[in-house]
Amino acid sequence: MTGKIIKGIAGFYYVQVESGVYECKAKGAFRKEKIKPLVGDDVEIDVISEEEMTGNVINILPRKSELIRPAVANVDQALLIFATKSPEPNLNLLDRFLCMMEEQDLPIIICFNKDDLADEGFQQQMRDTYEPAGYRVIFTSAKEQAGIDAIKDILKGKTSTVAGPSGVGKSSIVNILTEGQVMETGEVSEKIGRGKHTTRHSELLYLGDDTYIMDTPGFSSLFVPKVDPVDLYRLFPEFIEPAENCRFTGCAHHKEPDCGVKAAVESGEIAASRYENYLQIYSEMVEQQNNKYR
Ligand code: GDP
Ligand code: ZN
Repeated sequence: MTGKIIKGIAGFYYVQVESGVYECKAKGAFRKEKIKPLVGDDVEIDVISEEEMTGNVINILPRKSELIRPAVANVDQALLIFATKSPEPNLNLLDRFLCMMEEQDLPIIICFNKDDLADEGFQQQMRDTYEPAGYRVIFTSAKEQAGIDAIKDILKGKTSTVAGPSGVGKSSIVNILTEGQVMETGEVSEKIGRGKHTTRHSELLYLGDDTYIMDTPGFSSLFVPKVDPVDLYRLFPEFIEPAENCRFTGCAHHKEPDCGVKAAVESGEIAASRYENYLQIYSEMVEQQNNKYR
């Protein structure tokens, strides 16, 4: 039987199959190869007891991808949730998070929740800011249950990491998504003791239909990309083409003359906020580099 590891704790792996969750130990040949099962791994299990729902993980199916932060396998995409208001969206934090996901090559969808509170023109402004970068931007209201179908559609059949600052309505959205499966989630909670552990582990939540989401802890405003500062602009997808017009190779798109990126900011192809956040992250990266070599 095959399933997906949704949680690993104290040497046990909790494997979701259509009918429920099996508590498993690792027993496969993969252990000789020093491969550790990860949350998100698709695995083959041998059932020990159908009644107690226990088994052994005997094989890890080939990984499509492996995220470092958080450590999870086979993530297909990231859903970033911010609020239109209350809390006011921090676009600097959003852009940092986009960089982090870009660095890991994850497709990204941006969701602004609390659309019921949005100012006139906010939707268009955010579309103009983020669609040039190739991101899909959606608007939801958990309060008015609006836009939820779009989220369901985006998540369907995939494994998604869901991230965002606190207070934006993540739990409200997840609660709506898990509605109608109350029994199933209740059963999962009982089996894996959700809520009983004080430490946060990576954990996938099964929404049925091969659809998994992961609540991503550690949403830090201190995140600075690991790439070389001259390559930072590559994490801003809409900067890449304009950068081909820069006069200098290694252009930082800052004070250099004849800079294609700056020209694109002036013509409005690149949003001012994106460029400002780029500059801020860039200067932090340079500063960090200087500190290292001092
Ligand atoms: P989380 O910290 O991201 O999980 O956010 P919560 O789901 O706990 O929501 C934070 C607060 O925002 C709660 O008081 C919710 O009732 C409220 N909230 C969530 N979604 C919406 C929404 O779409 N519109 C409005 N007006 N309030 C919302
Ligand atoms: Zn440039």
